[in-house]
Amino acid sequence: MDAQEPKSVRGLSAAYCLAQAGHKVTILEAALAIGDVGAGIQASPNVSRLLIRWGLRPRLEELGVKPEALSIRRWTNNEVVGWTEFGDAMDKAYGAPYYHIHRADFHRILYEATEPHCNIRVGCRVVSLDPSKPSLTLASGEVVYTDLIIGADGVKSTTREYVVGGPDKPKATGDAAYRAIIPTEKLLQDDDLKVLVEETDSIIWMGPRGHMVGYNIRAKKEYNVVMIHPDETEGGVESWTAAGNADKMKEYYKGWNITVEKLLALVPSTLDWKLMDREPLPRWIHKDGKLALLGDSCHPMLPYRAQGSAMAVEDAAVLGNLFSHCSDRSQITPLLYAYQTLRYERATATQTSSSLNQHIFHHPDGPEQEERDNEMRMAMEDAFRVARGEKSTLVLAGNANQWADKEKSNIQFGYDADEEAEKWWLANGDKLMTLVPSTEAAN
Ligand SMILES: Cc1cc2nc3c(=O)[nH]c(=O)nc-3n(C[C@H](O)[C@H](O)[C@H](O)COP(=O)(O)OP(=O)(O)OC[C@H]3O[C@@H](n4cnc5c(N)ncnc54)[C@H](O)[C@@H]3O)c2cc1C
Repeated sequence: MDAQEPKSVRGLSAAYCLAQAGHKVTILEAALAIGDVGAGIQASPNVSRLLIRWGLRPRLEELGVKPEALSIRRWTNNEVVGWTEFGDAMDKAYGAPYYHIHRADFHRILYEATEPHCNIRVGCRVVSLDPSKPSLTLASGEVVYTDLIIGADGVKSTTREYVVGGPDKPKATGDAAYRAIIPTEKLLQDDDLKVLVEETDSIIWMGPRGHMVGYNIRAKKEYNVVMIHPDETEGGVESWTAAGNADKMKEYYKGWNITVEKLLALVPSTLDWKLMDREPLPRWIHKDGKLALLGDSCHPMLPYRAQGSAMAVEDAAVLGNLFSHCSDRSQITPLLYAYQTLRYERATATQTSSSLNQHIFHHPDGPEQEERDNEMRMAMEDAFRVARGEKSTLVLAGNANQWADKEKSNIQFGYDADEEAEKWWLANGDKLMTLVPSTEAAN
């Protein structure tokens, strides 16, 4: 079967999985190159287990950093109010490590894995589709025909409009994300900052109407900072390359603790991403059954739980698993519906839990903030007990530190996309295939 992926990045993982399932795949990517854009990506165990299965552990170990813990702190004085052990505890609990990695390295790793198996065409912007044929028209005027289109074209998806039948209606969240990368050699020269490199924790500083995230990437050669702040610009955009105003950024974080101030003093320029929210879509598949969405095009989520990429790679693994059973074009549509059935609820729940952190992290100082911090402290005491080898004594369901909620973390990080797809297939595969007349070979 022929599958066209308009667009790349997590589209790379879908292309990899579909090619491994025996299909002929072409990626149509608008960008001229798989570029060095963006900042850090947190690859939690639900995604790292898949990448490791694809043979990518050596590259993740080489380019990524494994955080020892998540440390959640107060904006005023750097006090740690929340703590969750990551490091070996992640591997032990969920069967795979947690990595911090530069987006460009993440793309490179996926590109290296995918390129030998697919046709990757860069500089190919898709401008329109005919979902019934299906075919795609490129900006050059070329028309590309295929058996299946996977629309992995991100938050500003063109393919989404064809699936839902109308333009996107994003709502401003009131937040934007400044981003910057600082060479760690600069941090190591400062007595207050060197600990950020030596301890490799993932840090969240919570403050009024904003928060900041910091962690090491590129084998601890670089420190990644994401600064979520109130969005006061009219014309902000969702973009990895839009410039922000570094002076305004420093102004906003003035009065935060000395670590934050010193860290930001090392940032000469910044990028700014306007954070927009979108309701879950009613469907991910076009009614003609030959076009499906994947990743941010169908479940864009706010970055407050660092799960956007993870969801897209999980989508890819499920799609690849299901399509490994596809030997006939008539099976495409039912397999796409199986993909939607398997993925919709999980991706939507993750979208919702990501938005929740915007509310939790941004309380101004006062009773709600104190209640939140006390709840996080309770969970932290319990986590320290567990780290000392004692038993956990608390049920932490609904804790303000969502990473401390064991049930939530089991669901998020313990999920194995391959296993879920296989289980589903064992229970439903025969039934699905008997619905479909086997008429023509699909390859
Ligand atoms: C500030 C910030 C921090 C984040 N941190 C994390 C994190 O730590 N962990 C995590 O898991 N997620 C994180 N995310 C979310 C994550 O970046 C996205 O979920 C992820 O990039 C989605 O991948 P995608 O492939 O669906 O879309 P994208 O990465 O947006 O890729 C879409 C691709 O399609 C191409 N394209 C678009 N239109 C066309 C067209 N018409 N024709 C051809 N090609 C086209 C684009 O050039 C691009 O290459 C973060 C997001 C933000 C904004």
